[in-house]
Amino acid sequence: MVILLIIILLFLIYQHINKQIPILMYHRIADIPNDRNTVSPIMFEQQLQYLKKYGYTTISLQDLYHHFTLKSPLPSKPVLLTFDDGYEDNLINALPLLKKYGMTATVCIISNWIGQENNWEDYKNKPSCRTMDLAQLQEWLKQGMLICAHTVSHPFLSRLNNEEILHELASCKSTLEEQLHIPIEFLCYPYGDFDDRVKSLAKQAGYKAALGIFKGTNFWRNDLFSLKRVVISSRQPLWEFSLKVSSLHMLFIGMRILEYRIKQCRDLSLTTLLQCIFSKQGNKKDINKSN
Ligand SMILES: [Zn+2]
Repeated sequence: MVILLIIILLFLIYQHINKQIPILMYHRIADIPNDRNTVSPIMFEQQLQYLKKYGYTTISLQDLYHHFTLKSPLPSKPVLLTFDDGYEDNLINALPLLKKYGMTATVCIISNWIGQENNWEDYKNKPSCRTMDLAQLQEWLKQGMLICAHTVSHPFLSRLNNEEILHELASCKSTLEEQLHIPIEFLCYPYGDFDDRVKSLAKQAGYKAALGIFKGTNFWRNDLFSLKRVVISSRQPLWEFSLKVSSLHMLFIGMRILEYRIKQCRDLSLTTLLQCIFSKQGNKKDINKSN
């Protein structure tokens, strides 16, 4: 009986992870040694070659939205490629490779940092580089690529008050719509940082869905306003990439969620630690609320 229950449980887990669509998160595509957020063009091309060879098809956030809301069919091996922050090297280095392999990608734009130096990430001593300017964003779109919003100034949204959050979300949307003459319907939370309040304000600002990373996302439930993404870093051997794009990508996300929750809850006693780890948001506030 116990064995049967374990088999059923494993089958249900397999069914769940097998249905999930991998959304890959990139930042820069350039030759910058020792920057974990920058994938070299050679490595990026190897990854695209892998996707092509094994029959993956890139889809858009709109496709994903229609799949979730209207049950529209998707190709047999769908994958979504996203680039955060809108670096110029996405256009210069990634776009020719995406075109070469017949793929599409979505770049997430910070409306105050169009065509500027990447000063918002100075605190990390990041190498200086530029983001795409308006003409380059238009070229990106003309080539069949897509754009989503990444706020006005790239803050940690959950640390702001409601008015500030709404400004970051609504103003980014309207600025990009005015400047690019396209509807901007999808959002990407900076640092993957959001909570229930941010999600509800994102809906209020008129977005249809939003990309997170792993923090605050739910392993078991698909939520259009906390879409889980798998991080593709600079030191990514192809075998690991192949796992991150397969059904097993959910295990990478699951491990990151668990790691984050343990870090948040680690100074609690054993009973409250487990309660905290498996609480709704995975933080001590939930325990305080329930106590
Ligand atoms: Zn960002």
